[in-house]
This record gives sequence, C-alpha cells and structure tokens, in this order.
Amino acid sequence: MQSLAGMSWRSALREKMVARFFFPLHECLKGHPTTYWLKIFQQAQYWSKDRLKDWQQQQLRNLLADTYQHHAFYRTLWNHLPGDFYEIPVVNKQLLQMHAHALKPPLNLGFQTGYTSGSSGTPLFYYQSQHRIARDVAAKWRCLQWFDLDMGSREAVVWGSPLEWQRYTWLHRLRDRAMNTRLFPVMQIDQQNMHTLFGNLVQYQPEILMSYPSVLEQVIKLNSHNNIKKLRLKAVLTTAEELLPHTQKFLEKTLRCPVINSYGAREAGFIAQACPQGNLHIMAENMLVEIIQPETDNVLPLGHLGDIVVTNLSSYGYPIIRYRTGDVGMLSEELCACGIQLPILKKLEGRNTDFLVDEKNKKIHRAQFSAIFSLFPMVNQFKIIQHTARRIEVLCAPKHCLSENMHQLKEKMQHCFGETVEITILTCDALVYDAKIKHRFVENRMLLRESV
Ligand SMILES: [Zn+2]
Repeated sequence: MQSLAGMSWRSALREKMVARFFFPLHECLKGHPTTYWLKIFQQAQYWSKDRLKDWQQQQLRNLLADTYQHHAFYRTLWNHLPGDFYEIPVVNKQLLQMHAHALKPPLNLGFQTGYTSGSSGTPLFYYQSQHRIARDVAAKWRCLQWFDLDMGSREAVVWGSPLEWQRYTWLHRLRDRAMNTRLFPVMQIDQQNMHTLFGNLVQYQPEILMSYPSVLEQVIKLNSHNNIKKLRLKAVLTTAEELLPHTQKFLEKTLRCPVINSYGAREAGFIAQACPQGNLHIMAENMLVEIIQPETDNVLPLGHLGDIVVTNLSSYGYPIIRYRTGDVGMLSEELCACGIQLPILKKLEGRNTDFLVDEKNKKIHRAQFSAIFSLFPMVNQFKIIQHTARRIEVLCAPKHCLSENMHQLKEKMQHCFGETVEITILTCDALVYDAKIKHRFVENRMLLRESV
C-alpha cells in the first residue's frame, strides 16, 4: 500500500506536469492561444480602471468595425456603423434563433459549433473562433489560480446536460485522464443515482468538484453525514444555476471547502467568477457587462438592479453584442479586498422566471423559499408551483412524517404570499428531477403560459 506522503508527492508532480506541459500542449494542438491570453489576463486583473477602459474601447471598436463589415444581419439591424455604443439595439436569444442562417460564419475559417441545451425552448446554435475559446479557457485558468489551484488539480465534473455526455467518446476519456479530470454524467436526481454518484466520487477523490448547486445539494442531502466526510475537496465550483446564499452556506459547511460561484452562458461566454472574498469579478478584459431597465432598455447606473446585457469582445464571426442573457443583476463600484481590480457584479439573481408573485403582485425571489425551507431540515426536496395569482402548490419530500411541522410551514408560506392566496402542501416519497433541465424549485406557470 502506498503512503499518503508518496501519493501527495506524486499527485503534486502530476498537477505540475499538466499545468506546465500537457495542458499548454493540448491547447496548442487545438490551435487555441490559451497560454498567450493567460499571461495577459494575469497582468490585466491588476490594471487601473482607466487602463482597463482604454483596452475595452479599443477591443470594442475593432469588433464593431469587423461586425459591420462582415455581417449583413448587423448592418441591417444597426443601419450605420454606430458612433455611440448605447445606440446599438439589444438582442436576445430568440432574435439570434430567428436569424440563425444569416448569422452563420464561414466554417472553413476554423469556427467551432456549439448549441445551448434548449431548456428554455428551442436550442440555439452558436459559433466560436479559436481566439474566443482560448480567452474563455485562459480566464477560467486565471480564476483557479485565485484559489491556489491550477489546471491539473484533480477534478470531477458532475453534469446533467446531454450535450457533454452524449459526445463523451473514448478519445475524450483518454484526454481527460491525461488532464486529470473526469466527467460524471447524472441523468436523474433520485436517491439511487445520488448514492451511486457519491460512491464514484469517493473512489475518484477529486480536489475540485464542479456541478450545478442544486445537484450538489441533493448529493449531500441523500447521503449520510459520515459518508460526506470521505470527500476531501479543496474547492467546489458551481455554475449554470444561481448559487443562493443559503445553499452556499450549506455546501461550505458540509463539504468543508470554499464553494465558488461562476457565471456564464454557453452562447455568450465566461462572464464572472467569485474571488476568495466571495465577490463576483467580471472578466472585463473580454466581457462588457451592462445593466439595463427591462422595459425601456435604458442603461441603469451602478447600484441598480436590472437585466444583464453582455458584449463578448472576442466574439468575431458570431458577434455577441449587447446580448440580453435573461438574468437579473446589479453592478457595483466597490473595490474588493482581494486586490483584483476587475469590476464586481454585486448581485446575480437568476432568471426572471425564478420569481413568484404575492397577492399584491410583488415579486418574491426563490431565495426566500430556500431560506424558509432551511428551517425545515427534515425536508429533503421541495418544489413550489404558482398556478395562478391566487393558487400555490407546494410539493415536499420529507425524510419522515411532516405532520408536526405542517402547520408551521403553511404559516410561513402564507406569510410570504398573503392571506388571500390558497396554499396546498402535498407530500410524497421523492421528487424525481430530470437532470437535463436545470433544476428549478420554483415554477411560475403563469409566466410559462404567457410565453407560449
Ligand atoms: Zn475580489
């Protein structure tokens, strides 16, 4: 049997080999200038505000000129080469879907195709140049270094999207093995699958675990406390869903490591990641983030909550310019104690559909329900469905009988929605989620009906 000291020496050597040799070679063979961008981003994160702004303006001018010259779709949409950036109309996923054919870049120039999962309806096909991919990967690499981690740190990726695991061939497995990473597909979130997944993770012993926060929460809740201690993680990276404060606290306490929030969209790119201080820093060398008023599209000042609109400064060929991500957020001017000068996305509140409404039509964010259910640890899973403005259904899967706490739970929910709203609480053995779709524990069926 190998000693732990021997193991950690070997694993440290392996990490170094991947970070210094295998990964740069892999990127080079794929034609991605990732190491070039990593060096730039390592310096740029300490640039002054003015220097960063100059850099962004230069990158933006080049992107706008190229887009206007090569894309008939944008020439028509803009009417003229915009002198004022804020004159450019905001675009969204539906518009890009509608004009998919016109937006297709010449594939012989080395563009890679991708598509979004279509969890909100139709999938969107998008295209990325080698430079855009390299900048995204370099930015993620830089962010790992904020936590003394590196490419090559043993990583487990727990993913529900079929986009990854349907294309996960023996070649990918071989590549991932060399890079010290492994994909763990999860099809359905139920007791049996979560037990099997946890057993596989303990056997693999990753240092970094990357997944949806809702999946991780279920992995922990459906496995015993003693078993959880068998995982010795250095960090958890969450993405694809909003990381709610209560979920973050719960994961950090049980997994005994930092839980790092990151924010991005497949079609738009890597937008922001939390630093060791917990602030979401925007990848501002490559991404312009604005907050706009949802109804008028007017830009809101710092400190105001509104729709997030992004411009990917390396999105040549398939431009992402003033693209509404569908998420709600707020920018802040404050400086972070971590020393990184990149601007901060102070609030990130998920999709508009993450809100339910009370009797006075006031929005209630799903974080509020997460906080309520934290007071009922006997509930493993829950889902709140708003059928109408006056009818709410709460589905609960408790560990044991909820009868003693039922009254208290109903009282809390009633307080949230108002006395005139009819609330029905139903219990069942387990809620089975489809992991292909981002797990949403609130469902606003009124909004769904409106969008049909
Ligand atoms: Zn920071």
